[in-house]
Amino acid sequence: MATTTKYIFVTGGVTSSLGKGIIAASLAKLLQAQGYRTTIQKLDPYINIDPGTLNPYEHGECYVTDDGAETDLDLGHYERFLNVPTSQANNVTTGRIYQSVIEKERRGEFLGKTVQVIPHITDEIKHRIQILGRSGDYDIVITEIGGTVGDIESLPYVESVRQLKWELGENNALVIHLTLVPYLAAAGELKTKPTQHSVKTLMEGGVQADILVCRTEHELSQDIRHKLARFCNVTPDSVIQSIDASTIYDVPNLMLEEGLDTVVLRKLSLERKTPDLTQWNTFIKRHKNPKSEVTIGLIGKYVELQDCYKSILEAFIHAGAVNEVKVTVESIHSEYLNEDNVKAMLSHLDGVLVAPGFGERGIEGKIDAIKYVREHNIPFFGICLGMQMAVIEFSRNVLGLKDANSSEMDEHTANPVINLMEDQKNVTDKGGTMRLGAWDCKLESNSIVGKVYNTKTIKERHRHRYEFNSDYKKQIEDKGMIATGLNPDTNLVEIVEIPSHPWFVGVQYHPEYKSTVESPHPLFVAFVAAALKHKKNN
Ligand code: GLN
Repeated sequence: MATTTKYIFVTGGVTSSLGKGIIAASLAKLLQAQGYRTTIQKLDPYINIDPGTLNPYEHGECYVTDDGAETDLDLGHYERFLNVPTSQANNVTTGRIYQSVIEKERRGEFLGKTVQVIPHITDEIKHRIQILGRSGDYDIVITEIGGTVGDIESLPYVESVRQLKWELGENNALVIHLTLVPYLAAAGELKTKPTQHSVKTLMEGGVQADILVCRTEHELSQDIRHKLARFCNVTPDSVIQSIDASTIYDVPNLMLEEGLDTVVLRKLSLERKTPDLTQWNTFIKRHKNPKSEVTIGLIGKYVELQDCYKSILEAFIHAGAVNEVKVTVESIHSEYLNEDNVKAMLSHLDGVLVAPGFGERGIEGKIDAIKYVREHNIPFFGICLGMQMAVIEFSRNVLGLKDANSSEMDEHTANPVINLMEDQKNVTDKGGTMRLGAWDCKLESNSIVGKVYNTKTIKERHRHRYEFNSDYKKQIEDKGMIATGLNPDTNLVEIVEIPSHPWFVGVQYHPEYKSTVESPHPLFVAFVAAALKHKKNN
């Protein structure tokens, strides 16, 4: 085993959206499967302190870690592939880098000096890159640099990589550059020029790529590989093809076939062993050979973009494999749902998940949907806002509190069954101020969650400001919606169920963040099983 931590930097060129996160996660998987303790970090070149304040349309889902960091969705891929929790240290933005440098400046830590991008910003970046390595927990740290080389905002990161590669020395650090090799249909050819230019741009910053991973829609011939190697100063076996895959979960095996781990380990002077991918491959086999199919409605307001509910969609893939079921997720826009069309939109579904979210848009459609599935015994899974809407629906239609609402949607409602949490009342800043991260929850043993988790206390991740208003707990429970999970310290209601319904579970937390290939989330597994049962019975 390595005594010093080795560093791998992943940069991107030509265009964004080439899947750097998946390549980084796949390589990490191959290294982990050979016994190397590997982690992945993402550096994002934007000025927000974290993506928590970004609109999901803009940046996709905000992923939350155990320690309450609001992070880039790539961290979700890292956890799903590696089954190792990430933390605050795994995602750093330019905003955070500048914030800490400016705070240091105010404290007088650079007294007398002009504070500059080089060395102060680059030192801070290098420090952040090495936090994980210096923890002693990892043999290999993979750092993914967000954005595309040549972007103005990427410059300090490329410069930091240049300095670090030099300081760490040969065999201790390497750069993988991910590019696109486009196919020109009219010419019938794959084109290498964009990659050549991109490698050249990187070299202008003093960084020589050691390995090229080339996204392509067609196989790269030996000719193309040699041409790329010659023009880009890499060995031919360092030109790795990354061909479009039918599922992201195929990418580790595709990288294995291409020998990515072999070149990486050789360049880092580490021993190559045969990776043990038994569990991974069992999952893929089950995922690709389902015995039946269920259709789940995902009701939200960002359904046009699959990145907005990334972790939920992936959790269904994991849970589908466990059940040997193909889970088809039908996205339903809550803004277009109403009392009149709800039957036509939902009656064919085997289960309905109402998504997390913020703000008023589309919530009445969510409430209509929940009423329908509650009354028609369709399995229901509500997450965060989805759980809160289930409580509102039940209060309105079963308790008869017609104006029941969340104070998020109507500050002056007479029946705030969902209310702002006490410690949120004086919060004015928007960034990083929600109830975030992992909190304990005590389960009622005689309940769906008690059986599904098969344990007394769980720890799940949160991201919310509003909560179930315990003043209404007795009334609600008397009518048949039961709080089956409570925070042991504050009694905050974390879970509600309706025992007279086949499968009706609402959770205040986000189970989707903790579902991984190796450890699919038990609630998603149980929900898919309930959907299958519903389908068979109908
Ligand atoms: N908007 C709700 C709250 O703040 C729900 C949040 C969520 O779904 N993540 O409590």
